[in-house]
Amino acid sequence: MSGTDALHDYDVETDPPAIEPVEHRIRLDFMAGGPIRRDQLLEKYNSWKGSPENTDPWKQSGKAKPVGLKYAEETCSRTFNEEERYYDFFEDDRALSEAPAFLAHRLRQCQSATDPEGALHSERERRENWYRKLIPWLNLYQVLKESSYGTLFGSGAGPQLNAEALTRQNTLVGMVVLGDDDQTPSKYARSHGLPAKYVIREADLSCSESSAAARPSEFGIELPAPLLVGKYTTGGRYPFIPWSDGLVCSCPYKHDQPWRVLCKHELLAAVVAGDQDSIFLPVTKGLDVPHRARRFVSPRFSSSRQETS
Ligand SMILES: [Zn+2]
Repeated sequence: MSGTDALHDYDVETDPPAIEPVEHRIRLDFMAGGPIRRDQLLEKYNSWKGSPENTDPWKQSGKAKPVGLKYAEETCSRTFNEEERYYDFFEDDRALSEAPAFLAHRLRQCQSATDPEGALHSERERRENWYRKLIPWLNLYQVLKESSYGTLFGSGAGPQLNAEALTRQNTLVGMVVLGDDDQTPSKYARSHGLPAKYVIREADLSCSESSAAARPSEFGIELPAPLLVGKYTTGGRYPFIPWSDGLVCSCPYKHDQPWRVLCKHELLAAVVAGDQDSIFLPVTKGLDVPHRARRFVSPRFSSSRQETS
């Protein structure tokens, strides 16, 4: 499926800037689920052909399904059910004020459609497709492959990748990110008394290499800014961008399709945060960064994760 597929034609330009509740919940699910073993990752699964009508690929391969993924799938169906009430009251602005930002935005568009009931029906179908198919089958299953999350394990690592082993291979580096027009990193470092290796130009981060990725400045982050940069064993350097009340990875995988709720870097972050039992990511190297640049999950959701098994 390409980025221009009509089915996924989200109007990202006008979408409200917020991380959807289900994204926060899925992060908490993977935090609670703990480390994922190499032998739990899929090898041959083709996510583009993935569909809830197929056999579960973990069942098919005889592998053990990661616990965090089980939680996340239950979260998807629970969240879809929770949202049912908004469809009944889609003309009631007060009810919509409590709805997730993106859904509320879409339902307001339904109000003014020429055929509001028809628009509502297709919006509901679209949302159901997101929770039942796109999130689990096309996004999460794809991330839980050897060729995705597995690449962050590095070559020398053992089969059990806990947070400590993960952060030996991959580092979360506190850095100051400069804009194109700012002074040079070495000058900036000297004038602020910082080690030069922790000051970088935005253009030198990996997210600047692909148009599908997101530069911090495109997200409205004013540079220079202290940010947490994931430096991965695969060679990528992707900053986590503080966005609404959490962090978003800036890699192209995450931003190429607006319906993707998790990338392999965010999964790694979830395992690390889960190990610390904190909604804040640790700085494993480099400069201190403000809390907002480390807050992985909104506090609004952290106290409300429902145990599902
Ligand atoms: Zn990423």
